[in-house]
Amino acid sequence: MISLEEARAGVLSGVEALAPGRRPLAEVAGTVLAEEVRAPTALPPFDNSAMDGFAVRAADTRSAPTRLAVVGAVMAGQDRTEALHEGEAVRIMTGAPIPPGADAICMLEVVDEEDDGTVILVHDPVSEGLHVRRSGNDVAEGALVFSPGTALSPAHVGVLASLGIDDVAVVATPRVGVLSTGDELAREPGRLPRGRIRDANRPALLAQLGRDGFEAVDLGIVGDDEDEVVAVITRAAETSDAIVVSGGVSVGDRDVVRLVLEKLGGGAIRWMQVAIKPAKPFAFGALAASGTPLFGLPGNPVSALVSYELFVRPALRRMAGHDAVDRPRTWAVATEALTRTPDGKVHFQRVRAERDEHGEVRVEVSGGQESHMLHGMAQANALAVLPDGPGIEAGGRVEVLLLDADALAPRNMVQRW
Ligand code: AMP
Ligand code: MG
Repeated sequence: MISLEEARAGVLSGVEALAPGRRPLAEVAGTVLAEEVRAPTALPPFDNSAMDGFAVRAADTRSAPTRLAVVGAVMAGQDRTEALHEGEAVRIMTGAPIPPGADAICMLEVVDEEDDGTVILVHDPVSEGLHVRRSGNDVAEGALVFSPGTALSPAHVGVLASLGIDDVAVVATPRVGVLSTGDELAREPGRLPRGRIRDANRPALLAQLGRDGFEAVDLGIVGDDEDEVVAVITRAAETSDAIVVSGGVSVGDRDVVRLVLEKLGGGAIRWMQVAIKPAKPFAFGALAASGTPLFGLPGNPVSALVSYELFVRPALRRMAGHDAVDRPRTWAVATEALTRTPDGKVHFQRVRAERDEHGEVRVEVSGGQESHMLHGMAQANALAVLPDGPGIEAGGRVEVLLLDADALAPRNMVQRW
């Protein structure tokens, strides 16, 4: 057995960021920027009003209460180039450019309109710049806006759009082929004879890849047949950046994937027994012909998904250019005992994590813990990391990997801010 650290180090050093390419803004959320973005224009692009109200000269309000003549109006999208003179005001809506000569905004709510709106009564002096959004106070023209390596969020997309940038160079999104292997896996609908089962891994992995922002490609199911597996992997390598195969990597009689990988890897695909539970058997390496990284996951569905979390996802995130490749971790209190026995392995128990009213994260076992018990995985939102030893007693502290960004969101609770 090799340690999890060693196995992960081998995987992470065996992949590199994909080549960048230009993509339209609509496709870049979740990707990683591969160029410097400088601002072609300032944001805001012009001085404009932060409020609905009246553009005034602050000096004219110094002796407030005072009356000003309303000489015009400017709505968002319009521009008024005529200068404001002493004693004048212009009706202005949020986002409209500040007319020349004006230097402050009186909110609608703080003035009284008189004479059919031709005059306003300003009750109190306003200071220069009040409710004026200065050009460039968010982003200055020419400034470095985002650096290479930035993971682009929807807000980043909004900034780029505001700057009139239509496309940016980003690291390519890994295209990942997913293949299930096993003679027992049925393709046909309907009731199955004893011995045959449904394929859980491929749909689950495809769903997980999609959720994690990768491009998932369904490679289907193949039986435990060496030639068939070789054919599908070889074909998929032409169009995939990585390939994930589940099943057949153990030591059983029909574990052909192992043999196939020895053949296709030319010695570069390493088959491992990792000191973890679940997901002990694992294979990783580059295909000799194409250099495509290949991940061989155990067939047991929980093992396959845990293996994905510990090896595949971090590697794919690295290929996608991210430097944060792992799930967030947090310390939690075990509300019940998380039992295990010493066996030289790190255990990843499926747990349900919740933040209690004191802000403490609490975890409880989410269901059956055997590696075929996918239902327990479905109930889980975190994996508790149990180092080798006797486990964690009720009330003890345990580190958990959060599998779900919303894992610790308050549930059915009136949120007080
Ligand atoms: P293997 O890794 O091929 O030895 O399979 C280990 C266990 O996982 C066996 O019980 C298989 O039937 C089961 N298994 C393998 N692949 C899948 C799959 N795609 N979906 C559900 N169960 C699977
Ligand atoms: Mg099998």
